[in-house]
Amino acid sequence: MLSEAMYALGAKKSCIRELFEYGMRQSAVVGAENVYDFSIGNPSIPAPQKVKDAFVRLLTERDSLEIHGYTQAAGRMDAREAIAEGLNSRYNACIRAQNIFFTCGAAPALVALIRALAVDGAEILAIAPYFPEYRPFVESNGMRFTIVPADTDAFQISFSALEAQLTPHTQAVIVNSPNNPSGVVYTEETLRRLGAILKRKSREYGHFIYIIADEPYRELAYDGVKVPFIPSVYPDTVVCYSFSKSLSLPGERIGYICVPDCAAESQKLFTAVAGAARTIGHVCAPSLLQLVAAEAVQAGACPDLEAYDRNRVMLYEALTSYGYQCVKPTGAFYMFVKAPDGDAAAFSELAKGENLLIVPGGDFGCPEFFRISTCVAPEMIERSLSVFKRLIESIN
Ligand code: PLP
Repeated sequence: MLSEAMYALGAKKSCIRELFEYGMRQSAVVGAENVYDFSIGNPSIPAPQKVKDAFVRLLTERDSLEIHGYTQAAGRMDAREAIAEGLNSRYNACIRAQNIFFTCGAAPALVALIRALAVDGAEILAIAPYFPEYRPFVESNGMRFTIVPADTDAFQISFSALEAQLTPHTQAVIVNSPNNPSGVVYTEETLRRLGAILKRKSREYGHFIYIIADEPYRELAYDGVKVPFIPSVYPDTVVCYSFSKSLSLPGERIGYICVPDCAAESQKLFTAVAGAARTIGHVCAPSLLQLVAAEAVQAGACPDLEAYDRNRVMLYEALTSYGYQCVKPTGAFYMFVKAPDGDAAAFSELAKGENLLIVPGGDFGCPEFFRISTCVAPEMIERSLSVFKRLIESIN
């Protein structure tokens, strides 16, 4: 006897993983240089030098028990203080160390927070296009996962669609900006409108509606675009942050939940987050990584965004010149492109036949679009362009 629901989840690989693994098998057959793998969002630039230096210094200078021992469940106080100070210096945010709970990245942060909000009959809303893992995160905690259909013109938020999905059972809305998969950053105006609707609905329903701000891509923005700090716009916001993408450390597993004092029932929610984290086996985030993250924040370490920016511009300009339609991404490292015939599943199968691996958008809630990861080697982009061109020509 075992859980059929968990078996089903384990047996069905994510479409991204499947394509990525197919790419590795296919590389062995046709040669890696003939496979154009745009499937996975694995940072393609090295971790900043300041991060490497912090690892080396901490490993050589600090006591083994200090850097490898257990910490408090929420993390070391000095590291939490550094994170809080970092947020305050950038956003004038009034965050205290006590508002920060270190986690093993954004995914477990989201699970702990969603679990902390789980009440009978509750619903969590996501805005398409959305990160596919939200569904199992919500449904495995006994809540209903509901979707606001996409604003496919700009990939901001369709407010009429949002209003239609809000119900008295809505517990929280997940907001992911810069967005995976669209690469779009929600404007301050979008967030203000969202906040105004949620405030009105909270009053109408007689309970708070939280925003869950999923922010692994916060530092990845281009063209001078600013990423608004959502708690400053809508106080009932809890932030799930990760260093996976911003510091190119996805395998190290470090991030945090920030429950600001301005959020409704902040202290109670923080305690519920700690309780929820316990139930998913959280003991503490890696001790060494807490210190590395704190030092990186203090040193203002940031990724070499130019490499991602060059890829973004090269792909956007080439693909749109061939006739593909795409909202220009100004964040993260993805592009979400309209399939020429409107059926991204079929188009990505066609592309697979040419060893071009692009992710159909069905699992992101937009079956007409496909996602391209732009965190790839620029040489691979150059080699792939003739294939993109040939594919759209074959359809038109
Ligand atoms: N949220 C979004 C939108 C993501 O794209 C990802 C990872 O790709 C995550 C959360 C999970 O990030 P982490 O590696 O920090 O768990």
